[in-house]
Amino acid sequence: MSMQSNPDTILPSARIPLCVPEIRGNEWKYIKHCLDTGWVSSVGSYVTQFEEKLSRYVGAKHAIAAVNGTSALHIALLCAGVRPDDEVLVSTLTFIAPVNAIRYVGAWPVFMDADRKYWQMDPEAVRDFLAKECRVRKGQVFNRTTKRRVAAILPVHILGHPVDMDPIMELTAKYKLAVIEDATEALGALYKNRMVGTIGHIACFSFNGNKLITTGGGGMIVTNKENWARRARYLTTQAKDDPVEYCHKQIGYNYRLTNIQAAMGVAQIEQIREFVAKKRAIADRYMKALGDIPGISFQAEAPWARSAWWMFTIRIAPAQFGRDSRATLKALGEKGVETRPLWQPMHISPAHKDCPRRRCPIASALHRTSLSLPCSVGLDEKSQDYVIGLLRKLHAAR
Ligand SMILES: *Cc1c(COP(=O)(O)O)cnc(C)c1O
Repeated sequence: MSMQSNPDTILPSARIPLCVPEIRGNEWKYIKHCLDTGWVSSVGSYVTQFEEKLSRYVGAKHAIAAVNGTSALHIALLCAGVRPDDEVLVSTLTFIAPVNAIRYVGAWPVFMDADRKYWQMDPEAVRDFLAKECRVRKGQVFNRTTKRRVAAILPVHILGHPVDMDPIMELTAKYKLAVIEDATEALGALYKNRMVGTIGHIACFSFNGNKLITTGGGGMIVTNKENWARRARYLTTQAKDDPVEYCHKQIGYNYRLTNIQAAMGVAQIEQIREFVAKKRAIADRYMKALGDIPGISFQAEAPWARSAWWMFTIRIAPAQFGRDSRATLKALGEKGVETRPLWQPMHISPAHKDCPRRRCPIASALHRTSLSLPCSVGLDEKSQDYVIGLLRKLHAAR
């Protein structure tokens, strides 16, 4: 058939999805074990095993499983002592979950712009805000405009790359703020040879279907602080104060991961080193193959970072490439390739229009120009070459 004349543009399978789970290990075996033994719910050995394996992998003292990453963030904010009408500095360029979680506890997000190179929360923006827009009174920081207490910083390590944490940790030591890392997209990434999720005071991971490892849905809270860990365990399990009597001194949450989900998590984390290596290889291959196309650029990997390259994303300069990111999304979609732009930044999100408005021009520009490319752990070279071939053709045909 005439369509097959160019081998680079033959669709190798029905569709190339953006990012799908890789389920080839002991998932079936461990889940079957749950079903065979009747340990299906939120008590069971796989929950404990999954917590132990994850805490060992990242090098945190404590890990507490939760139903998803969003609930983990909700609990982490409570453990960090964030109260109603406090403010929390958060990356504007993020999936909406951490900002929603800030609102769940009745606190307010203050949106921080991204940096130009790594697309992460800009430590300069944080420093400027604290120095110029806040004042310190009796050892606490207050926003001069809103008069609210600033309680915490919530950096989101987006797309698998770490935020530059050292300057942020210095500021939080100076201003006595809690740091909650949203590490949901960056499991396996290193910041100066330390695992992401162990640098702040508490951190969260997600095991949603598109994350590096998945339990269908799931999350984890990690911390080195024993009292925070105890509180996280308490709050995720309905704040039960007596093992026999139904006695509760506080309002808790039913946020505990089930044993079936944890069984899948154990099987997935057994393969994590291989998954990270595969993500890094995919990113490397894209950058080598697309680097010379005018108008295509990449998120840089910092010299102090090892990115997990969770979601490989390009920037498209329409004047040089020949079309903008949304037209490219549409053209690739017509050829069976799923791509997606970055999230609408939170400072312009209608869901959070009641929050103080701030200018975040870099995040806005990244939102307009970005496009995430297929990068499943199981993406084969033929499929990747097909995506690369299509991008070349789109540029040539501009
Ligand atoms: C995936 C994700 C979460 C958590 O998502 P869940 O689906 O609730 O597990 C939180 N923050 C960010 C930035 C995410 O990408």
